Amino acid sequence: MTYDEYRFETRLLHNQHKIDPATGAVSVPIQHASTFHQFDVDHFGKYDYARSLNPTREALEDVIAELEGGVKGFAFSSGMAAISTAFLLLSAGDHVVITEDVYGGTFRMVTEVLSRFGIEHTFVDMTDLEQVKQAIRPSTKAFYVETPSNPLLKVTDIRAISRLAKEIGALTFVDNTFLTPALQRPLELGADIVLHSATKFLSGHSDVVAGLAVVNDEALAKRLGFLQNSFGAILGVQDAWLVLRGLKTLSVRLDFSQHTALKIAKFLQAHPLIETVYYPGLPNHPHYHLQRDQAQGAGAVLSFELKNEAALRTFVAGVKIPVFAVSLGAVESILSYPAKMSHAAMPQAEREKRGIKNSLLRLSVGLENPDDLIQDFSRSSEQLDQPELLRGE
Ligand SMILES: *Cc1c(COP(=O)(O)O)cnc(C)c1O
Repeated sequence: MTYDEYRFETRLLHNQHKIDPATGAVSVPIQHASTFHQFDVDHFGKYDYARSLNPTREALEDVIAELEGGVKGFAFSSGMAAISTAFLLLSAGDHVVITEDVYGGTFRMVTEVLSRFGIEHTFVDMTDLEQVKQAIRPSTKAFYVETPSNPLLKVTDIRAISRLAKEIGALTFVDNTFLTPALQRPLELGADIVLHSATKFLSGHSDVVAGLAVVNDEALAKRLGFLQNSFGAILGVQDAWLVLRGLKTLSVRLDFSQHTALKIAKFLQAHPLIETVYYPGLPNHPHYHLQRDQAQGAGAVLSFELKNEAALRTFVAGVKIPVFAVSLGAVESILSYPAKMSHAAMPQAEREKRGIKNSLLRLSVGLENPDDLIQDFSRSSEQLDQPELLRGE
């Protein structure tokens, strides 16, 4: 039986793990065993020790590999565990070209940890291919892409970067957390490794921390599998099951949220007291066409700038529906303050160089009624019409 002929939404439900072959259960069983009895002294079974392989984690790894169009998936204890393990493919003396508005935790890993092991990096604006080319050194072994980027939603051309990487024998890593395979499949565009914080849209309910990686080359799969087992930052089985459950509703959740995101982006853009809106689904976004070309949607995350930090504080205090928190990609809308949350690990000077102002908010749109969200934002922004909140920064 193959499920290849089905479209994405159907494959979320009807895949090789839809039914447990032993019992007919329609939900993947949670296998807690850490070790597995071997029936033969000479011939061991498929499972021996759960760090190396466990059937529940394996089901999630199979499903994500299938959805991303790769040959093998790997599940980790967090997005950062997936990203950090992938970086272990590099060795001392190797160089990474990395997108400058990368996730704060990845920034910290590259600048404060990998640098101690002799792995060098250059930050560039990846939307500018000339800058990317200029940054290449003889030791460049990887390009690290996050698109749309966090928190300014800049769009990098995955095909162009992958082509450049192939020319010099380097790998392309893509953090696909913001769009998920429902909207963007980097391996099909030429990337070598797709990374995820499954904490976000893939699981979708703000109740699990998890990371995933997918590759489409058997040799690379062997190397990453070796590192997963060696480093050992694997995903636990309860959490693997939660991600598997979340995945079943991925398409309907993202569809709904992204429709609302566009409505809110348009509302904010038309609002006189909002400075700038960043959302690649808006036709005046500088990378609107590229986004349409390489992805099936613009996603459910947007950012916007208020006039100044005092205005931001007033706006946040007035908003009632979204939770004000770190994270994104959940059923409830999440309003975050990048300068103090996701990008707090980045020094202020670095943040400002990247355009992440103290007056910038990021919104991850959930499943609330769109009109309730817009009404909430509308009421909160009425309080911004005071002289001290209208001055530019
Ligand atoms: C949250 C996030 C990460 C880190 O994932 P964790 O699960 O929190 O470790 C990496 N990249 C992006 C884009 C994220 O949003």
